[in-house]
Amino acid sequence: MMIAIDGPAGTGKGTIAKLISDRLGFMYIDTGAMYRSITLKILREGISLDKLDSIKDLLERTVITFKTIENKQHVFLDEEDVTDFIRTPEINDTVSLVSAIPEIRVKMVELQRKLGESGNVIMEGRDITTVVFPHAELKIYLDASIEIRAMRRYKELIEKGNVVTYEDTLESIRKRDYNDMHKEMGALKIAEDAIVIDTSNLSIEEVYEAVVAKIPKNE
Ligand code: C5P
Repeated sequence: MMIAIDGPAGTGKGTIAKLISDRLGFMYIDTGAMYRSITLKILREGISLDKLDSIKDLLERTVITFKTIENKQHVFLDEEDVTDFIRTPEINDTVSLVSAIPEIRVKMVELQRKLGESGNVIMEGRDITTVVFPHAELKIYLDASIEIRAMRRYKELIEKGNVVTYEDTLESIRKRDYNDMHKEMGALKIAEDAIVIDTSNLSIEEVYEAVVAKIPKNE
């Protein structure tokens, strides 16, 4: 069974996917973490985004894997645990430019399809319901007002010790939404048969219940 979840930043996709993974035993794949890890490597190496040959070369020598450690999912970039380095304001501001590069998307989608082959999987991102697994048994699109999403993200960043303002976070999410919705390949959109849930005024438990209620029963 594949549960595919898409939606813009700050709608709670990761939180819900993690809960479903913990409670129902699904394998959780955070595809945003994959694009974030590639972005980290590009920034570290100082590669300019218009140098396609350098990007292709980087992709060829990049391996991204996931591992669960003490009930938390960790992402590894070439065997280095980068989980704590991929949610910074700098990466938030660059990732949607990196993820718009078709060569990067082709490689990530291929890897995501491979990861999705085994057993019960919940995968979340921007193009999972439309491109990666358009035939998933359950397709969910989570949404919320931009102010609420920015406030959630702002609190997360502050908790992690980042120095940011709410206004900057709002602006960064606004730009990222725009970039993610206007990509040539893998643009964020609502799949025709996706169930849309607006999480603006719902608690995490309420969203969880709403998603679980839609899981098809094998009878
Ligand atoms: O989900 P998260 O906010 O961590 O995703 C970070 C970024 O990665 C998104 O803003 C988007 O640019 C990119 N992404 C994507 N396709 C996916 C998942 C994420 O382009 N399936």
